[in-house]
Amino acid sequence: MIPLVDPFQRAISYLRVSVTDRCDFRCVYCMSENMTFLPKKELLTLEELDRMCSTFIRLGVEKLRITGGEPLVRRDIMTFFRSMTRHLEAGTFKELTLTTNGSQLERFAGDLYEAGVRRVNISLDTLDEQKFADITRWGRLPQVLKGIDAAQNAGLRVKINTVALKGFNEDELFTLTEWCHDRDMDLTFIEVMPMGDIGNEDRLGQYWKLSDLRDELRKKYTLTDLPERTGGPARYVRVEETGQKIGFITPLTHNFCESCNRVRLTCTGELFMCLGQEDNADLRSALRNHPNSDAPLEQAIRDAIAMKPKGHDFDYSRQTVDGRVSRHMSHTGG
Ligand code: SAM
Ligand code: SF4
Repeated sequence: MIPLVDPFQRAISYLRVSVTDRCDFRCVYCMSENMTFLPKKELLTLEELDRMCSTFIRLGVEKLRITGGEPLVRRDIMTFFRSMTRHLEAGTFKELTLTTNGSQLERFAGDLYEAGVRRVNISLDTLDEQKFADITRWGRLPQVLKGIDAAQNAGLRVKINTVALKGFNEDELFTLTEWCHDRDMDLTFIEVMPMGDIGNEDRLGQYWKLSDLRDELRKKYTLTDLPERTGGPARYVRVEETGQKIGFITPLTHNFCESCNRVRLTCTGELFMCLGQEDNADLRSALRNHPNSDAPLEQAIRDAIAMKPKGHDFDYSRQTVDGRVSRHMSHTGG
């Protein structure tokens, strides 16, 4: 099988899959309060998701990250996770993982471990109960903390993803860092990205540059840059005083595109070759119109990869939000 390589000689080995656009939270930087969600018939069924992911795995994808919306609110999603176990057992496929808000982990952490998941990214922007309720609108911190406990008790390695938000969690930088260290969890900060209409919230007002955040961290710790790369926008440092590793996802201040190894599938079967561009390919038709053969789907995937752009165009540097894309993060999957 010829592997998936794009026009810039980047091998595509990582697929992120949004399995639903729905969520039990309404984080202010991600969604507006009144979201219109897709009708069910638009969504790939669990069987179609299996066929889609299995085809990517056959073409060389080694890592799947399941996301959303909130992946664990999709009905019967464990059936899908369990169906992917066979690829892990077969050997070439290396990692099945997910990004979650943690609200359903108390219920599902054990099942995820059983299905072969070993690591999970959990999004958490504050440890203050009231601020948590404010930022997620519908979320409750104790439920998420119980989910984190359940994940660790089940044996899952946890990474906390924190969106850096000016005037919101600046004052919790050290509290969050120490909390993650004390619980032996990795921590990654994310810069807020201009995705989707979020109502009255102000993008530039939310933007806390991660270079400023790093400078703050340096006031207390010695940070050493690590060479580690995962093919995405994350860059890592080691905190010399504690040995803790901290990640920074800085799509707006860094160009990470030269080593990009990933593409993103939406819950309706559109493939986005770049998080920061509108171009996409409809894979659902290739799948639904040919129930008995995967060859047209394989060809549609190859054609899409041949169109993968060189990079994104997000830019806040002129004090306006340039390169904005119209879809929400929950549509493409963060
Ligand atoms: N619901 C799950 C969760 O919250 O982890 C998975 C989907 S969520 C869209 C994935 C990640 O995207 C979360 O860590 C969230 O904080 C982040 N995110 C959402 N909107 C964002 C934005 N506009 N800029 C930066 N990160 C964003
Ligand atoms: Fe839901 Fe995740 Fe978006 Fe928050 S960031 S609204 S939890 S999809």
